[in-house]
Amino acid sequence: MSVDFVGIDKFSLLDYEDKVAVVLFSKACNFRCPFCHNGQTVLEADTFIPFDDILAYLRQRKGLIDAVVVSGGEPTLMPDLVEKIKQIKDLGYLVKLDTNGTNPELVKYLFENKLIDYVAMDIKNSEKKYPLTAGAKNVYMDKIKETINFLINSPYEYEFRTTIIDEFHDEEDIKEMAQLIKGAKRMYLQKYVDRESCIAHGFHEVSKEKAEHFKDILSETIHSVNLRGY
Ligand code: SF4
Repeated sequence: MSVDFVGIDKFSLLDYEDKVAVVLFSKACNFRCPFCHNGQTVLEADTFIPFDDILAYLRQRKGLIDAVVVSGGEPTLMPDLVEKIKQIKDLGYLVKLDTNGTNPELVKYLFENKLIDYVAMDIKNSEKKYPLTAGAKNVYMDKIKETINFLINSPYEYEFRTTIIDEFHDEEDIKEMAQLIKGAKRMYLQKYVDRESCIAHGFHEVSKEKAEHFKDILSETIHSVNLRGY
């Protein structure tokens, strides 16, 4: 079954480090994180962009754009994601996948078949607060752990990232997360910003001082930890 993307950012300098990227947004997600900036994409989109138009744009911009970021929603829910990424790869682009980590089999397949070059995986919170933070009763924790372990033990390029929110993340959660992704190569703590497009509102950002403290805790088990947006 073919399912097209519902959104495109034609020029981004923020979504793939040191690269000029096009970002594609898939519809649908198995989570409902209250802080999700793509609330409209996840919940409400009803117009699709013909994939042939995206390919035509990518052909036209060859040499000006380095990479395509496949984002969402949760892109691994797209039934024909592999086929679409193959067509993007055939044009010679780097491909980054943004994922919540609930489909380890597909992440493995894409890396092992050289269809992606980088993965950014969300780590929502400590295990006990995952359902609250992801807005879902079933968060497929076994699958998430499988993706974490695959990435940590792989030769591939990846980052873990967490949007930190005062109401959701405390020191104990960060200590547990430090164990959950112990040995990871790279992690980013992202500043929360309440936008109109968020699924829910009324949460607060973590202060810079507290974020630095969280970074210190995580740095005990992770090679490189950085703040993003602070
Ligand atoms: S932030 Fe949460 S709800 Fe939004 S796309 Fe990612 S996993 Fe889905």
